[in-house]
Amino acid sequence: MSRTFPFFMLTFAFFAAMVSFPPPAPAQPKQSPDDEFRPLLEAYLNKYKPLYIESATAWWEANTTGSDAAFKRKEAAETALVELHADKAVFAQLKALKEGPALGDPVLQRQLDVMYRAHLPGQADPELQKKIVALETQVEKLFNTHRSLVGVKNLTENDVRKILSDSHESKEAEEAWKGYMAVGEKIEGPLKDLVKMRNELARKLGFRNFYAMRLALQEIDEAQLLKLFDELDELTRRPYAIEKMAIDVAMAKRFKIKQEDLRPWHFGDLFFQAVPEMPGGVNLDDLYAKVDLLDMTRRYYAGMGLEADDILQRSDLYEKPGKSPHAFSTSLDRDQDVRVLCNLKPNLYWADTLVHELGHAVYDKYVAKDVPFLLHEASHSITTEGYAMMMGAMVKNEDFFRSVLKLSPEDAAAAATTAKRSLRREKLIFARWAQVMMRFEHGMYNDPDQDLGKLWWSLKAKYQMLRPPEKVSRPDYAAKIHIVTAPVYYHSYMMGDLFGCQVHHHIATKVLGLDDPAKTCFAGRKEVGDYLKKNVFGPGNLYSWNDLTRHATGEPLTAKYFAAQFVK
Ligand SMILES: [Zn+2]
Repeated sequence: MSRTFPFFMLTFAFFAAMVSFPPPAPAQPKQSPDDEFRPLLEAYLNKYKPLYIESATAWWEANTTGSDAAFKRKEAAETALVELHADKAVFAQLKALKEGPALGDPVLQRQLDVMYRAHLPGQADPELQKKIVALETQVEKLFNTHRSLVGVKNLTENDVRKILSDSHESKEAEEAWKGYMAVGEKIEGPLKDLVKMRNELARKLGFRNFYAMRLALQEIDEAQLLKLFDELDELTRRPYAIEKMAIDVAMAKRFKIKQEDLRPWHFGDLFFQAVPEMPGGVNLDDLYAKVDLLDMTRRYYAGMGLEADDILQRSDLYEKPGKSPHAFSTSLDRDQDVRVLCNLKPNLYWADTLVHELGHAVYDKYVAKDVPFLLHEASHSITTEGYAMMMGAMVKNEDFFRSVLKLSPEDAAAAATTAKRSLRREKLIFARWAQVMMRFEHGMYNDPDQDLGKLWWSLKAKYQMLRPPEKVSRPDYAAKIHIVTAPVYYHSYMMGDLFGCQVHHHIATKVLGLDDPAKTCFAGRKEVGDYLKKNVFGPGNLYSWNDLTRHATGEPLTAKYFAAQFVK
């Protein structure tokens, strides 16, 4: 049904216009969505950019000096950012633009997407947000103050880790493990409340639950994620089972027990996410004991045409009082001021870490100059972590031993045999553990009222092939801090690794024309740097991680190159 005006009214209106008013001016063309968005973006950047720089600068100072004043400045900038992103009027405009026709300029459209996702979580009910933060803080405190009661002693997390990695006494390992897991009993209740509140918040913002919301904010499609993890499961199940049998034999021998008596505390680690100490092979730490890591890394990157001198000069690389004991890379201005924090020692761990962190740093440095501030960063944690992991792992590569460490071909081959075996174990163990984390969180947010202990141990049995402890309803899942403090994020580590392997494969076969990616560490190959600058670093965040993967490697993210490199 349509509505028409009676003829006389139109006629009247026409004459009235003729007689009483000057002729109407030609109608103004409606403002384009691009024109509507531009002033909104500019006003936002005027506030966002200085706050970003202040937060990054204060964070750097806090971590290099431990200064309380710097930590306070960082917190103030973060609080201001939270307030900025809670702006209801701005969000309403962003939402209207998002729901309208696409912007004509794809770079503007991408900035709209980024801005929209930055504002979305801030639109939740402020009372509910406060309750969630309070509960998160409470749970974190429970974690930090938990001591594992073992015998009559109260042990720290580090003490427990040391016992698990070194002990040959089954009883001692069991007590230490159970002492640590007891924190789960304290956290189980508050965690369930937290999960329900997070779900409520997500539903109010229009999502199925918190899991779905977090994935949407990370631009990850749930069906694609599950499919990718299914593919990874297929590719790793058998090789892992074989590797796990060898580990079972070694651990049964170490604890002088039968294999069927092996339980989760016999694998050298709280969650069996890392390789237990295994006998045999070359000590890879020895290879790096006399190496100048700084010089090694600078030369290595320069050989690929990726200049890191300026980055290293601004960086803070050695231990000092008050400084953070960890390592990270950061861009202070999303331009040229990129820096790395390390605490270098001449060993394998720090060789890997320095090469890894400089990977992040050159990525940031070589984002093309014309990429606007809001997009002037890595496309995603998947792409920057993936690239950094790929580079870090090169310090265990045979070509690296030969062309960077200058080992003889025989020594390089011997070291590579050990390195390859340990890398393969490490990757397989992590890949199976990541399955548990991803599927557990998925299940928990879908149905927080189910028996979560049972879900946890059934996943650990299926994917890690561990025999559960005697009681499976134990809330051991609540002892994994990431579930509380970094929710629905763990899958990104695994996806990053898959991305790194896919890029490595592409460079080796398509850029360098090799048949086996394991044969190259890219040393001295400028064409590798050129490829990365053009296809991976250069675009910054102009594309989503998914589009970037397709542009850079010609196919969507897959687990097959990870399997080809580490599992075969
Ligand atoms: Zn990293």
